[in-house]
Amino acid sequence: MSQNIECDKIRKKLKDYAADDIKDELLIKKIEEHLEKCIICKRELLLWQDVLEKQKIIRNINLSNDFKDRIKKRIKSLESGPEVPRVVRQVNAINTFLTSPKGCLLTQIFIITAGFLFVILFLYKETNILFIFLVLLATASMMFLLFKK
Ligand SMILES: [Zn+2]
Repeated sequence: MSQNIECDKIRKKLKDYAADDIKDELLIKKIEEHLEKCIICKRELLLWQDVLEKQKIIRNINLSNDFKDRIKKRIKSLESGPEVPRVVRQVNAINTFLTSPKGCLLTQIFIITAGFLFVILFLYKETNILFIFLVLLATASMMFLLFKK
């Protein structure tokens, strides 16, 4: 039982001991004495030494400035959303619109009107320009109403 209490006390100091942060000679001696007879604390010390060693390695890794810049840029772009080229964004916007119900309806109206105009042009070559203009105007106003909603 007293062994356990001592282990608890020693273990609280093991990190500092492994990092060479303890200045109290007496405490160092006490720890070393305990470590000689306690395999469990000894193992914990080895773990601490391993962790500190790895931390040192990580801290000492010299990242080139270029690499740091690239990481910063990447983080920034991730924070502000992906950098999508303008054309892609426009195509996406058009695609989103065309696949929406409003867009589908608009496309249908446009195709029907265009087909209608072609039929008129082919069947009646003497078709009044004013009539075509009125059909186009009607289509335009339908589109306008669709957009307004
Ligand atoms: Zn111990």
